[in-house]
Amino acid sequence: MLSDPTAMLVTVAATCLLAKCRHAIPTLLAIFFATACFLNSPFYDGVEPTERLFGFGASAICLAMLMKLANAKTLFDRVYETVQPNIEDIPGFGWSAYADGRLRFLNPKALNYVGVTAAEMSAISKIDNHSWWSKFVHPEDRDGCIDRWDHSLRTGEPIFEEQRVRRHDGTYRWMRDAAIASRDENGHIVAWFGTTVDIDDQRKAEAALLDSQTQLQQMIDTVPALIWCATAEGQPSYINTPLRIWTGIPLESTKPGDSAQFAKAIMATIHPEDRAIWKQSLEQALNSGQAFALRYRQRRHDGVYRWIDGKAEALRGHDGSIIQWYGVCLDINDQVEATEAVRKSENELRLLIDTVPSLIWLMTPEGMPYYFNKRFVDWSGLSVASALLDGDKLKMVEFIHPEDRVAVDSAIKQTIAAGKPFSHKGRLRRKDGQYRWMQSRIEPLLNEDGEIIRWYGVNLDIDDEVRAQEALRRSDERLARALRAASLSELSVSIAHELNQPLQALVANSHAFKRWLDAVPPNLDRANRTAEWIVRDADAAAQVVSRIRALFGKAVFPKHKVDVNALITDLRDLITDRLIAQAVKIEIDLDPHVPATSADRVQLEQVLLNLIRNASEAMQEKTIERQLVTISSRVRGEMIEIEVRDRGTGIIDPDKIFEPFFTTKQDGMGMGLAICHSIIEAHQGQLRAETLPGGGAAVTFSLPIRPIEANDSGNPDPWPERVAASA
Ligand code: ADP
Repeated sequence: MLSDPTAMLVTVAATCLLAKCRHAIPTLLAIFFATACFLNSPFYDGVEPTERLFGFGASAICLAMLMKLANAKTLFDRVYETVQPNIEDIPGFGWSAYADGRLRFLNPKALNYVGVTAAEMSAISKIDNHSWWSKFVHPEDRDGCIDRWDHSLRTGEPIFEEQRVRRHDGTYRWMRDAAIASRDENGHIVAWFGTTVDIDDQRKAEAALLDSQTQLQQMIDTVPALIWCATAEGQPSYINTPLRIWTGIPLESTKPGDSAQFAKAIMATIHPEDRAIWKQSLEQALNSGQAFALRYRQRRHDGVYRWIDGKAEALRGHDGSIIQWYGVCLDINDQVEATEAVRKSENELRLLIDTVPSLIWLMTPEGMPYYFNKRFVDWSGLSVASALLDGDKLKMVEFIHPEDRVAVDSAIKQTIAAGKPFSHKGRLRRKDGQYRWMQSRIEPLLNEDGEIIRWYGVNLDIDDEVRAQEALRRSDERLARALRAASLSELSVSIAHELNQPLQALVANSHAFKRWLDAVPPNLDRANRTAEWIVRDADAAAQVVSRIRALFGKAVFPKHKVDVNALITDLRDLITDRLIAQAVKIEIDLDPHVPATSADRVQLEQVLLNLIRNASEAMQEKTIERQLVTISSRVRGEMIEIEVRDRGTGIIDPDKIFEPFFTTKQDGMGMGLAICHSIIEAHQGQLRAETLPGGGAAVTFSLPIRPIEANDSGNPDPWPERVAASA
């Protein structure tokens, strides 16, 4: 280095770089001078110093020029200097201003936009100060713009601002200004250069986006639902206003920045007993990515825990990864409490139904049994499972007494078809196998449209009562028979007594008559007189018989208005139970045109009862599959006809049955039909009996259609004098 100054070239190059090329020549000269002094110094022990100095100087100058060229003229600079750009090609509005803000230049695009010519703009800028542009700015933005422009002019800070600028057609559009100050080497501002870009469409799009975001936010915060969001990792990120108010979680705890505190605040609202399961379910959902669903209790702002139906779903990106969790909490406390109340009342009702001393059961609208209360199950021994599972009809039928099955089945079918309540007395089998009399009643439950929803059935065990009644009836019958027998003996004694005298006289006179004729010679005169006595005695006997007959025929006949059809119906209702007990069914077939007539209602009842009893008894003697008594009414000319038909043995001796004391029954008296005959004759009607071709008998009586007297009330005398009460 000390022997050869060539290395000093490095110092020259570095100096050129540092001093920029503007000062390269003076710097180089200074270096040249310094090097000359150095080389001529006594320390430098070189040969031919002038040559070396010359060589070094030439090298340093070449290097300095090369560095200048490299520093001052880049390739780009050279291209740019040679190609003159057209100012029209510059996108956006360009402008420049003097250091004090007065307009220096405005590009044609900007002039076109505001709708003024270059000359007009020049005039505007001359008469105006630096706020020459303010007349094109929206009034609302004007003051702010001037302030900022003033500030930049004072401080030299760049301008970045947005404002609405009026277009030539009077509409305002959003523009963004960016301007910087150009300074001289001393740092003084020499000019301002700026561009203005139309950002109106962008602003509108941003405003629309902001609007929709605001609306969405408002909706989320207004909708009456408790909504929350969590990150993919399960950290709470947002709860909507209703949820925040509902839980009473303070706003500062819901800041997404501090998710740990947020999570803690939420966890604090979960019921302590439900926290573990809540956490576990949430973690499970987070791990599996499957929906979260849980019912749990959460504390409301007032400290009351309420049942919540919590649900959450994951929002996934295109690649299927979870971006966010969205959840909703539904306050179902009222519903849960209502369900609980219903369940409780159902339990109470069930307890009541199972405790009430009746057998209760339910059927579908189609008549399929599907529920039996506990009493029913206990009483019948019916397995609840088998009964409830398929409502096995066969099993149900097994409970009904074989003799009642057909009747019950058809009655239930009719009831279900008609949709009307049904009442029935029949025998059902208890679990010990004993058939017991039950009073059954079924009623439909209708909805508001009148459609049957289900049938309610109640069975009451009335077996003891029925048996007591039956025993009473039997003892009644025994008593009646005894009374009849007693009356009959009385009647017999009386008849015997009445007939005894004339018959004894008849016998005595007959013997006398024979003696008078056997006498030799026959005493014809006395025989003739005796024959007259015989005739007299026979007449007396006949009169006794006539009187007895007259006793039956002499019906007291109080007249009342009788509606024959109503009488038959009442009677049917009265005796149905008794007949069912004998496994006999009764049916009526009434002609609705049968008019009312004047008759003794009690006597007619007596006749009908007698005929029905005979019909029923006729069927007891024969094994008949369906024991049926049919009572029908009809009009035949001037008469009403009432027929009692049965499926029994038929009339064995039709000529004799109306005679008193004719009977084919072991304990019969043979007086019933005789009395009926008397009663019907007394009403000027007729009684007849016939055997039906297909088996069975039909006993028919007729009554004349009598005009109703004005004083006929239709109410029978409660204590009419009975004809042949002894029967
Ligand atoms: P009782 O019933 O006491 O025998 P009735 O005068 O009522 O007396 O009947 C007389 C007889 O008429 C009966 O014993 C019976 O032989 C016959 N009889 C009456 N009604 C019928 C009937 N429906 N079917 C068959 N026989 C009957």
